[in-house]
Amino acid sequence: MADLTPAAAAPKRPTAAPLTTATAGAPASSADLPPVDDVEARAYRVPLGATHADGTIEWDAVSVVAVLVRAGTEVGLGWSYTDPGAASVVGSTLAPAIRGLAAHDVPAAHSRLARAVRNLGRGGVAGAALSAVDVALWDLKARLLGVPLVALLGRAREAVPVYGSGGFTSDDERTLARDVEHWTGELGARAVKLKIGEGAGTHVERDLARVRVAQRAAGDDVALFVDANGGYARAAARRVADAFAAERVVWFEEPVSSDDLAGLAALRAELTCDVAAGEYCWRPSDAAALLAAGAVDCLQLDVTRAGGFTGWLAAAALADAAGCDVSAHCAPQLSAHVACAVPRARHVEWFVDHASTDARLFDGLLEPVDGELRPSLAASGHGVTLRGPDADALRVA
Ligand SMILES: [Mg+2]
Repeated sequence: MADLTPAAAAPKRPTAAPLTTATAGAPASSADLPPVDDVEARAYRVPLGATHADGTIEWDAVSVVAVLVRAGTEVGLGWSYTDPGAASVVGSTLAPAIRGLAAHDVPAAHSRLARAVRNLGRGGVAGAALSAVDVALWDLKARLLGVPLVALLGRAREAVPVYGSGGFTSDDERTLARDVEHWTGELGARAVKLKIGEGAGTHVERDLARVRVAQRAAGDDVALFVDANGGYARAAARRVADAFAAERVVWFEEPVSSDDLAGLAALRAELTCDVAAGEYCWRPSDAAALLAAGAVDCLQLDVTRAGGFTGWLAAAALADAAGCDVSAHCAPQLSAHVACAVPRARHVEWFVDHASTDARLFDGLLEPVDGELRPSLAASGHGVTLRGPDADALRVA
């Protein structure tokens, strides 16, 4: 006879005990923090003053959705470089999921956020919105505790190297050389990256010419990275990489689409330079798929897409278990903090469009010194705040 005792019929998966919601202004104990009592999203559009292009798309502005999460007297700030529609997802779907939750329970909040977007999908606009809220929650918790974000995360290092990144296919050679000289000179970067794969891989000779321009501007001691943004087919990527071998290129990012895991893995097995991808990891399982396919020598993770600091750290742990380094994709002001929390983080991408956009919208920004970003220990949280009227002038929602 089947055993129908309660123990045998119990669910196979343990169910998390419900979390008590803190009461505003009256913490249950000294360890408690106030509840999240307000979540606000604002969208901005920052014109670049020029059209920028890579191997597969072009753009002339950067859209940013910033999230402000309030608890007690403190406000946490997170953001993502994404469509303004993410602000509406925050207001309609994410904010109701976390209002009233104790501000220190970031894992519980993250679970609620993930559940709230289940039917929207974890990627794209919803994933960017979720990431911005997660970042804001970590920042809020650190500010409530009165500690720097890197102290809350725990440091593996005091500073993280940056590499200069831009070199758009739409740039002329003079602009490319000027930017490379700025990154290696004023910023002290020891690696630089330019976009290739122009016209979906149809301008290979110009790609090679621009690589040589960057190489001359960078000098012999600087590592050269290229990013095709998935612009090449497999065979073309192989031929281009063969030509690069003589040009000291050590990093080939998205030589083919990052959807083509087998293609990335095949190229990785053949090429002498590192193959990198991962900027479209929206959740840890996306990172797990890249790692399981053997698709990358270094896994890129974007804190404004991958589920905020929570998702970034989870994916970085998977990379660590697979013996793979990680690199922080873009969003340098947020990436610096989380990259300092991970021993295997190689570098943070100092992306020109984000550096210029951040300067228009935010105060309290980190600047690279001697090629490194060093999070401040003097500020609470990540130390960044929205600029008042200057940012308001760029607001679109
Ligand atoms: Mg890229």
